[in-house]
Amino acid sequence: MADIISLLPDHVANQIAAGEVIQRPASVVKELLENAIDAKASVVQLFISGAGKTTIQVIDNGIGMSPTDVRLSFERHATSKIKSADDLFSITSKGFRGEALASVAAIAQVEVHTKRAEDEMATSIKISGSKVEDQKVSVAPTGTSIAVKNLFYNVPARRNFLKSDKVELRHIIDEFQRVALTHPETKFTFLQNGSELFNLPAVNFRKRIANTFGNKFEEKLIPVEEMTTFAGIEGFVVKPEFAKKSRGQQFFFVNKRFIRSPFLNHAVTAAFQGLLRDQYHPGYFIYIQVDPKSIDINIHPTKTEIKFEDEQNLYAIIKSMIKHSLGMFQAAPVLDFGRDPSLDTPYDLQQNPISNMPSIEVNSSFNPFQNSEIAISESSKKNWESLYSGLEIPTEYPNSEEELKLSIDQAPKVFQLLRKFIVTSTRSGLLVIDQKRAHQRVLYEKFLSSITKRDMVSQQLIFPEEIELTQQQIALFGELEENLNTMGFVVKQRENHLHITGIPSICSDKQLGQLFEDIFSPAEHEKVTSFSQADYMAKILSKSLSIKGNLSLSVVEQQALVDDLFACKDTLTCPFNRKIFITLDKEELENKLD
Ligand code: ADP
Ligand code: MG
Repeated sequence: MADIISLLPDHVANQIAAGEVIQRPASVVKELLENAIDAKASVVQLFISGAGKTTIQVIDNGIGMSPTDVRLSFERHATSKIKSADDLFSITSKGFRGEALASVAAIAQVEVHTKRAEDEMATSIKISGSKVEDQKVSVAPTGTSIAVKNLFYNVPARRNFLKSDKVELRHIIDEFQRVALTHPETKFTFLQNGSELFNLPAVNFRKRIANTFGNKFEEKLIPVEEMTTFAGIEGFVVKPEFAKKSRGQQFFFVNKRFIRSPFLNHAVTAAFQGLLRDQYHPGYFIYIQVDPKSIDINIHPTKTEIKFEDEQNLYAIIKSMIKHSLGMFQAAPVLDFGRDPSLDTPYDLQQNPISNMPSIEVNSSFNPFQNSEIAISESSKKNWESLYSGLEIPTEYPNSEEELKLSIDQAPKVFQLLRKFIVTSTRSGLLVIDQKRAHQRVLYEKFLSSITKRDMVSQQLIFPEEIELTQQQIALFGELEENLNTMGFVVKQRENHLHITGIPSICSDKQLGQLFEDIFSPAEHEKVTSFSQADYMAKILSKSLSIKGNLSLSVVEQQALVDDLFACKDTLTCPFNRKIFITLDKEELENKLD
């Protein structure tokens, strides 16, 4: 039999390697930005179109490349940053594996213009699918411009795996922020489809954080610092009362490199223990300097995970450093006077649900004052009917209008179980309803229909609310504005603020802060998949405004919720595709009791 092993051609090897380094447009952004930093640029510009699927371009004013170097830079294992394996332990550059450009060129169409200060003319080169298509002398300023077009154009399977533009853009913003936060001494700009998302001048760490997350952010930071023989640590934590439900403000940088470390994250969380509400995560920006010999960066192709020589020690230092700073901050309550009392309100409500239960917490049609007479609407009746048919219990299916009416009239018996479920009886047995999911369904359909019918009633706020936005939140607001208006919000953007004067009548002003946080939260975006923006908005609002699973409801509210649920178009699943209720029919009960 003939030999069967052959070496893969370079372009195939490159494409395979690309799978590790380049997962999505954001990976390209990261590699190009890091190359610009390594090239000692003081100004770096990022341009994106089509969420990076169409074009990603990075222009820097760094050292540029010679004509031979440009050509070489696209070969695999071609790097100017290390010469031997020993160098791996004294790395000060971002890159060193020499894989990024080769990988990108294997799966996209790449165009480079580059010039060194000492050269008169620039070099331009075009490569696609690892093939050099054109190289020529050209005119360009000192530095490098790399444009990456039609990512994965020749790997349709990978292209199909990309998420929606919104999600891909979110990833790009994340990578951009990580690089920008690591290098405050470099000026960065970021334009997406021609509009500016970030314009970050060269400043210090603290100002860079503020410029990235909104100028008021500076007041939310507490400095932390610790110098030991083995590590130098400095940075900031976010004051506990400004903690977020998302993890979007958690940054560790080791020797000027963003890293992920669940272990060190745990150290921070431990230091915050007792200071955060349930499900809230601490925010932090921690810069760690250690001897490059004491870490291994080369354990992961994207270099976001590293190995420390003495992780335990670092854990202890970080935890005590943060505890110390938080302690100092709390020992000086005068710093706390600016605290916004409304931030605490939702928490109080949850703690003390029965007597304080405001009618606005729930939707208007199950406001106890409006529903003192329990009425079952025509549409509710229909859905009781469809409920039965949906569950296919033919023997119990009511035979006539009278019988249906009878079955409902006899069934307004509801009670709440474990502050989470509403139990009600049907003619055939029991129905156990998840109250939160039911409410989400009701709210979701209300909001969705308000968008199509434009009939949402809005209530004016006595005290208009101001919400500060970051640049990318402003961009997102631009997209959502129209739907927010049809849903009953009266919102205007003023520079970097939202000015809110009206809200849908089924929402309370106390819920507003949380609601807008959810609308703009990247974590929510990841979780909520949608086929349209209206659907997305209705989902986010229903999730944010729904009663939670630990709220006592009065009998009237319970009944109203059940009625509202069965007036919905879909009564079986919540907007996030989870079952709303289960049934236990006579037969099952009898079987169980057998
Ligand atoms: P690595 O960064 O790991 O060395 P890359 O594939 O990212 O590998 O880049 C290969 C080489 O191309 C780099 O080592 C560098 O010499 C050169 N290079 C890449 N981008 C730039 C740039 N923006 N300016 C100057 N040189 C660059
Ligand atoms: Mg690189």
